[in-house]
Amino acid sequence: MPSILVVEDESAIAELIAINLRHAGFEITLAENADQALVAVDAVLPDLVLLDWMLPGQSGVALARRWRADARTKELPIIMLTARADESDKVSGLDAGADDYLTKPFSTQELLARIRAVLRRRVPEALDAAVEVGGLRLDPSTRRVARLGVELKLGPTEFRLLHFFLTHPERVHSRAQLLDRVWGDHVFIEERTVDVHVKRLREALQPAQCAQMIETVRGAGYRLTQQVMASAPSA
Ligand code: CA
Repeated sequence: MPSILVVEDESAIAELIAINLRHAGFEITLAENADQALVAVDAVLPDLVLLDWMLPGQSGVALARRWRADARTKELPIIMLTARADESDKVSGLDAGADDYLTKPFSTQELLARIRAVLRRRVPEALDAAVEVGGLRLDPSTRRVARLGVELKLGPTEFRLLHFFLTHPERVHSRAQLLDRVWGDHVFIEERTVDVHVKRLREALQPAQCAQMIETVRGAGYRLTQQVMASAPSA
């Protein structure tokens, strides 16, 4: 279930957004101001933030800039909400690092469409679409993983880990990033937990001869690659 942090000081609007998004299958956390939002994100990275521009204290724009400047949150998907339809505001919102921008009042339909578009682009592992790399296919809706007709059995953590790798192939992910994005906990789980589950994932992939798709990148973390599969001699 994709998680969304709604940062909005007007409680009536926040509640209405929360009700509609929960109804649409999202997990919602509410924050009334920048301080609450920072605490929430520090605890668990949401899949996306709906960020009101006008907040008491630190503004939504300042908060977006702050998240963009931090390595852990620089890729956090953000949709800015504003009562102002001014084009120059839209530009400064996007300049501050927002992925999209919605002017109040907006319909639930429009909000959902924007959220899904940003998630598809930025957090595909939060959605239910099947994904395939190097013939290795994972379907979240049926919970099935297979390669070349060989059905693979994965535990729940290995399934989520593989889903994340498949939706972000060829990129190196540190253990801390994996804890944040796959476990949702970067503070209380030890990094070697990641190593344990990567080992289990490789074992689970072995029957389809693709364990080597999960590469260890020394001193950096792990990466899913299909390059090793095409290991024919080349110039
Ligand atoms: Ca406001």
